[in-house]
Amino acid sequence: MPNTLKTKGYAALRAHSSLEPFSFERREPRDHDVLIEILYCGICHSDIHQARDEWGGSVFPMVPGHEIVGKITRVGKAVTRFKSGDLAGVGCFVDSCRTCSSCKQGLEQFCTEGMVGTYNSVERDKKTPTFGGYSSQIVVDENYVLRVSDKLPIQNVAPLLCAGITTYSPLRHWKVGKGSRVAVMGLGGLGHMAVKLAAAMGAEVTMLSTSKAKEADARRLGAHAFCLTSQDGALARLEGHFDLIINSVSASIDLNPYLATLATNGTMVMLGVPPKAVELQPFSLIFGRHSLAGSLIGGIAETQEMLDFCAAKNITSDVEVIPVQKINEAYERTIKGDVRYRFVIDMKTL
Ligand code: NAP
Ligand code: ZN
Ligand code: ZN
Repeated sequence: MPNTLKTKGYAALRAHSSLEPFSFERREPRDHDVLIEILYCGICHSDIHQARDEWGGSVFPMVPGHEIVGKITRVGKAVTRFKSGDLAGVGCFVDSCRTCSSCKQGLEQFCTEGMVGTYNSVERDKKTPTFGGYSSQIVVDENYVLRVSDKLPIQNVAPLLCAGITTYSPLRHWKVGKGSRVAVMGLGGLGHMAVKLAAAMGAEVTMLSTSKAKEADARRLGAHAFCLTSQDGALARLEGHFDLIINSVSASIDLNPYLATLATNGTMVMLGVPPKAVELQPFSLIFGRHSLAGSLIGGIAETQEMLDFCAAKNITSDVEVIPVQKINEAYERTIKGDVRYRFVIDMKTL
């Protein structure tokens, strides 16, 4: 039996149960692994969907968390990219096959053998469960670890590992730049990063929100316009306007009036994963040759590019730091939209 590392964390023991203190074992670092002492971990809405088994197939006990920033405390003997004391980040996956065409293109999130999720997943051996960042430490192969600048406050960097890359990747893929008309649906963890990043890329950004109270924030974050979508006729006034819509809404809503705001050849990118299927009126796509697309986080190289872009432009997430004991309260507040704009757990409180 190989040695293991005793690790403290917070886990959901079954669907719909509150998260509670949980002890488990991690592997000793192998030759290519680093051991990271976790300092901060963001709370993504995907953590809530999975801890509550809203997508089905969740594996329990579950230690969620995939917006991880920490300090390297040990390295395996073949590690070349990191040394003890370095800051490091871990996002939504910790391994992949490394040989399929997606992996070779740096699109490990689409690995044809399936990426190994940071939690709620199994390792490449197909049996060892993975546990995420609501914990004191994590062991990860250096090829799936990101370099984190010491120029930025790290508690504000943690959410970049999911919310940052998930919004950066489609903005790059759809070539957003100066003059692009971009709309962002939903001002939450993903949405606020989309606004900041699109504005930094030179786009003209419109916030499409259901929360009047977020208007001033949206403008402060970089939005040039704000549309309260619940207001009669508000979306209709934007018909034919946007080149790209970043949809980060976590709940099931009628997409058709939003699709009508796309310009000819415009695209809506689905990032949000509401539990229910979407109803689509084909005319919403046919007129204007609109596209409805999806995007999933981003590969390792692009995640590093995003972190470097954010360090160069001084972009981080707006966070509310909480002690680990407040996770359950933070879940409830996230669902109500009562967070400006990401909860981040201070792991020293574990
Ligand atoms: P979040 O912080 O809870 O933000 C979601 C936002 O959606 C809310 O702030 C709210 O914005 C809007 N919203 C919520 N309920 C709504 C409703 N009933 N009608 C209209 N708008 C509503 O969540 P998040 O962490 O940003 O995650 C958003 C979604 O993306 C989740 O489903 C998550 O699982 C998914 N996700 C996907 C990926 C990917 O790779 N594709 C990665 C991470 C997360 P307003 O108050 O402004 O309306
Ligand atoms: Zn996430
Ligand atoms: Zn692969």
